[in-house]
Amino acid sequence: MQIINNHKFSDLNNRLAKSVVEMPPSGIREFFDLVAQREDIVTLGVGEPDFVTPQSIIDNAIESLRNGFTYYSGNQGFLSLREAIAQYLEELYQVKYNPKDEIIVTVGVSEAVDLALRAAINPGDGVLYGSPGYVSYSPLIRVAGGVAQKISTSADKAFKMDYSAMNLAVDEKSKILFLNYPSNPTGASYTKEELLNIASFVQEKNLIVISDEIYSELSYNDNHIPFSAIDGMKERTVLMGGFSKGFAMTGWRIGYAAGPKEWIYAMLKIHQYSMLCAPTIAQFGAEAALKYARADALKMRESYKSRRDFIVKAFNEIGLKTINPEGAFYIFPDIKSTGLDSYTFAKKLLNDESVAVIPGSAFGSEGEGFIRCCYATKMEDLQISVERIRRFISRL
Ligand code: PLP
Repeated sequence: MQIINNHKFSDLNNRLAKSVVEMPPSGIREFFDLVAQREDIVTLGVGEPDFVTPQSIIDNAIESLRNGFTYYSGNQGFLSLREAIAQYLEELYQVKYNPKDEIIVTVGVSEAVDLALRAAINPGDGVLYGSPGYVSYSPLIRVAGGVAQKISTSADKAFKMDYSAMNLAVDEKSKILFLNYPSNPTGASYTKEELLNIASFVQEKNLIVISDEIYSELSYNDNHIPFSAIDGMKERTVLMGGFSKGFAMTGWRIGYAAGPKEWIYAMLKIHQYSMLCAPTIAQFGAEAALKYARADALKMRESYKSRRDFIVKAFNEIGLKTINPEGAFYIFPDIKSTGLDSYTFAKKLLNDESVAVIPGSAFGSEGEGFIRCCYATKMEDLQISVERIRRFISRL
């Protein structure tokens, strides 16, 4: 048989989705890759707990395998897990969800975010999100066909979105407001009064809301208040919760979304074709987390809190102005006094002192002049990194 066309195929990029080819790679990944190549690095880079998952969770998950449960679950996730989630949300925050049709179990909050966006966006719809903000939001909004509409926040307002900042970003295209508190990368959270202000904006502009509250278990000051607990917001909000951070389960890939049944059903339709179901072993683990590991989660929170107190004080003492964050496990120090931009600072710090931090610019242009440091790492490493950063800035 004759090969008709043996030209080398070289235009694959032209065949791929334009929205993906043009998508910038995550600014965080570049630093993870550099860190992975070297063993001498003290890292404040990766945003994940240093704890191993609590033993009761591991035991229950292993037991499920031993009992031979190696099958798919229903698309929405085990009903018993959804019931446990509903009970958890009601006990902690007094918000009620029907486990039958108002909760879906997902592959991490990551999948929940993607599903909620794809289920709600028509081409050209505007999605408002805070900047600096979690790296996934703007690329996922674009891939879903939406227009990413940035709400600028700043250190002088503790990186919180207020009415005037939201009002500057909103236009007639705007349909969805993205919330994330406690926030990655700044740790900022909201009081009831601040949430009420956001809620009146939402009502005034007739928006629907995706509220990523994956760090809700890691709130240090006041109790966390879900956005859906604010009067009038439940019927227009999808609440995202997870196990990765609060229960130290990042590798298990399990999370959930709770919201109005129409929106959850639309998300379920995409999920049933693209994912079938979340991993069942992780679902058993998640149910055990809510039933048996809440005390472990509280202990981990106390440990992060004392590390936060240490690192905020230490950074302020070495001259890098740092806001005391209300939640999550990140600080977002101001490095403008060094005269370096955040990328150069992070790269040079890695080269000169083997300490990994993430440049603030990876979280949006409003993050320029800052670095993100994750303090969910052992105290000894926090002390070493503070010492090295002190030496590094004294030499600049
Ligand atoms: N949302 C935020 C704000 C995060 O910081 C992260 C992880 O860093 C995620 C979602 C992803 O969570 P999951 O591990 O549940 O997919």
